[in-house]
Amino acid sequence: IPVDPFDLVIFGGTGDLARRKILPGLYRRYCSGQMEDNSRIIGAARSEHETAEFRQMIADAIAEFDPKSGSPEQLEGFLERLEYVQVDALGEAGWKELAALMGENRVRAFYFSVAPSLFGALAERLHAHGIADSETRIVVEKPFGKDLASAKALNAALAEHFDESQIYRIDHYLGKETVQNLMAVRFGNMLFEPLWNSQYIDHIQITVAETVGVDGRGEYYDRSGAMRDMVQNHLMQLLCLTAMEPPAKFDPDAVRDEKLKVIRALNAVPLEDVVRGQYLADGKKPGYLEHAGDPDSKTESFIALRVEVSNWRWAGTPFYMRTGKRLRARSSEIAVVFKETPHSIFGEEAGRHRNVLTIRLQPNEGMDLFVTIKEPGPGGMRLVDVPLDMTFAEALGPEAEDVPDAYERLIMDVIRGNQTLFMRGDEVEAAWAWADPLIASWENRGDKPVPYETGSTGPEEALAMMHREGRRWRDIR
Ligand code: NAD
Repeated sequence: IPVDPFDLVIFGGTGDLARRKILPGLYRRYCSGQMEDNSRIIGAARSEHETAEFRQMIADAIAEFDPKSGSPEQLEGFLERLEYVQVDALGEAGWKELAALMGENRVRAFYFSVAPSLFGALAERLHAHGIADSETRIVVEKPFGKDLASAKALNAALAEHFDESQIYRIDHYLGKETVQNLMAVRFGNMLFEPLWNSQYIDHIQITVAETVGVDGRGEYYDRSGAMRDMVQNHLMQLLCLTAMEPPAKFDPDAVRDEKLKVIRALNAVPLEDVVRGQYLADGKKPGYLEHAGDPDSKTESFIALRVEVSNWRWAGTPFYMRTGKRLRARSSEIAVVFKETPHSIFGEEAGRHRNVLTIRLQPNEGMDLFVTIKEPGPGGMRLVDVPLDMTFAEALGPEAEDVPDAYERLIMDVIRGNQTLFMRGDEVEAAWAWADPLIASWENRGDKPVPYETGSTGPEEALAMMHREGRRWRDIR
């Protein structure tokens, strides 16, 4: 179904994110017929380009990052929807031209794909030049602050000119198909919700593992680290969707109210429940300290932590989170590990088994429910755990194959005016309010992260953190 006609201005339209994700994503939505012919995408950035040059830049980006989508005619049609204006977020150049370009009677959206230090200036100038009104939507990228104070300052700068209902804070993890499927599975079935608590669930593991290092952006990363760059936002959102109470409706504020309650119920994590690491050089590739350009850097490229959600549903059920760079595989998943059956009627030799529900974000987005069955054959009552594929691509037919990627889906949600999958300002602040004291506690102690091998599953200490409670991390594959 096509969305309403729109003018989408991408500030930072010539940047890396715009070329790699935003514009190829919009192109795929155009190819699938979701964009009306009179919709337009306006690239706005500091560098000087003619519209023709910008169109060529985007054609090249599509050829590089999404060469399989669409036909030459479709590409031509899409490029005709593109315009370019040179605009300086911090000066007056280009704003009159931008104002003159904007159409009437259509959705107006502005994607701030620029450094967060420019958000306030952009918001102010959009208003000063009469380009934004009470219907206008703005989309902002991560990082949304580096601590509570800076997040509050960003929220305040945006709030001077825009109502919360106009602000779309992107966390692209929320745009992933399986993350939304997690909500469908939890709240669309009778099977899971009665078991979804500390009585039946032993623990939950959330893993976001990357194989890349911080090559090329070491200095930037060194001011942030895995806690700020990944846990406070992406892993926190995954934890919220796993742990939240059923919202009364699938509407933006009902869902976000429930997520906020989860964040507010998080425990103050003691340092014994945190392992921070830095990857070592592996012969060919430099280690973290070389990338950071500071041999004394105390910033972590890996973190594992044990978190509790202190409420009736989850008391006593740990949530283990870990994320890191230069690990064994690029792999992200949520695993809900159920308790063992209270008694085995098949005797000790049948072994003890657990149900595990895995929600895989990459590779191969999907969901599996591991159930225990009899191993087929004449060998007696031997038990084996097998996965039930809950992705159902086959059952749903070819349409299930055409899954939009996270950015495409989220941008279409902006045009539709649906904020459900975007973070609200108070959620972001609550997540920082939880993260800040923990970060301060290791900074005040001067803790140095422990080293780990490139291609491993992280530091030994992270394995030990689980072992001491008689649990194991799932393999990173
Ligand atoms: P980039 O450096 O590649 O591009 C920056 C863009 O901002 C350019 O188009 C530049 O012309 C424009 N710009 C800079 N100063 C300007 C000014 N004064 N006025 C107008 N335009 C100006 O950056 P990027 O990697 O595309 O990242 C953009 C934003 O998205 C950042 O906030 C970044 O943290 C965030 N982000 C990027 C990625 C990614 O994969 N690149 C992922 C997540 C979030």
